[in-house]
Amino acid sequence: MDFTLDDEQKEIRDWVRTFVRKEVVPLEPEVLRRERAGQPGLGRDELKALQDKAKAAGFFGVLTPREYGGMGLGAVMTALVEQELGRSFVPFRFGGYADNILFHGNEEQKRRYLLPTISGERVSCFAITEPGAGSDAKAIRTSARKEGGEWVVNGEKTFITQGHEADFVMVFAVTDKEKGAAGGVTCFLVDREMGWKSEPIPTMGQWGPAALVFDDVRVPEANVLGEVGQGFRLAMQWIGQGRYLLPARALGACERLVEMAVEQAKNRVAFGQPIAEYQAIQWMLADSAVEVEALRWLVLHAAWLVDQGADSRQAQSIAKLYGGIKANEIVDRVLQIHGGMGYTRELPIERWYRELRLLRIYEGTDEIQRRTIARNLLRGHAKVTGTLG
Ligand SMILES: Cc1cc2nc3c(=O)[nH]c(=O)nc-3n(C[C@H](O)[C@H](O)[C@H](O)COP(=O)(O)OP(=O)(O)OC[C@H]3O[C@@H](n4cnc5c(N)ncnc54)[C@H](O)[C@@H]3O)c2cc1C
Repeated sequence: MDFTLDDEQKEIRDWVRTFVRKEVVPLEPEVLRRERAGQPGLGRDELKALQDKAKAAGFFGVLTPREYGGMGLGAVMTALVEQELGRSFVPFRFGGYADNILFHGNEEQKRRYLLPTISGERVSCFAITEPGAGSDAKAIRTSARKEGGEWVVNGEKTFITQGHEADFVMVFAVTDKEKGAAGGVTCFLVDREMGWKSEPIPTMGQWGPAALVFDDVRVPEANVLGEVGQGFRLAMQWIGQGRYLLPARALGACERLVEMAVEQAKNRVAFGQPIAEYQAIQWMLADSAVEVEALRWLVLHAAWLVDQGADSRQAQSIAKLYGGIKANEIVDRVLQIHGGMGYTRELPIERWYRELRLLRIYEGTDEIQRRTIARNLLRGHAKVTGTLG
């Protein structure tokens, strides 16, 4: 068992660490200033300019296969990259990324949707959630009926990330009510010009999703992604693509937060001595350090299983559940150690406090992760002794 990074992993991780320190972290005061004024933290052009800078240094398409111009770095390396990016709250991502299910498109679909998404010319969004169907995704009611050579889509989607910015949507609709999720749901690639409407949904965090409305939107038959009736499988594949990546980003945030808490504890004096001298503060630091360490190995283990092509579902759910819960506990402690300053918008702690809360909700709530973990044990798909047997 080797827990060290090899030279190449170290080199890539250090490059990202330096990029975040030199290019991303300096943007933080301006991002906070804009957000306080109710503006987006980073404009699309600014994001693109930063992505281009990274691309010029060869950093593009971390997970994207090399044949599509990406780096094809694999899961462990991507988790390490995400962790470094998570150290800043600036909403930056390297360019060259496309949703995994777009790789299932035919040649024409790849030309029109996959390649422009990778290059950053087009923005995609993924829409399964509806006002009446969230955790219970099988209950979706958006429908598509065939009329001549076209499909006519009707329904409403909600909480769609990038739904207001997207140029096209991968939308999931019922094409056979009898079969439902078992062969009766289809995924369509629908351009905004085909007529769907979006409305932003204000949230407590920076990721403003949108509600989408489909009112008799006509979609050519050529825009079915994969096969008619096989959409639910694609949706599950999308959701399962990187549950380890969400806690990986949170891990980076937690590392930075605990570092801030250590500094604050050493510098803040109360009752004649630094608060670091008080056991109440030390215990908060100690508990946070233990949890950060545990989360690191849960994330890397889940990513390692992905790289091995092994069944990683249990490990990914465990990392996502633990990461969501512990990141929220850690940011709360760090806010507490900062006292009143932690509660202000002068520091980014309250921002992380709001943002990390989302981790317990999207891409499977805590309760749904627990349900998955327990079911895997009860049905014998996973053992409590883990992958070592
Ligand atoms: C910011 C944001 C971005 C999002 N982005 C997207 C996106 O891009 N695309 C997309 O399709 N969706 C997206 N979602 C939707 C997200 O996946 C859902 O919000 C999530 O799956 C929960 O569904 P729900 O909100 O309908 O809650 P519900 O399913 O109504 O759940 C309500 C509560 O009941 C609990 N619950 C439900 N079922 C069970 C059960 N069987 N056992 C125990 N407890 C249960 C839940 O855990 C939760 O606590 C996003 C959501 C947010 C907030």
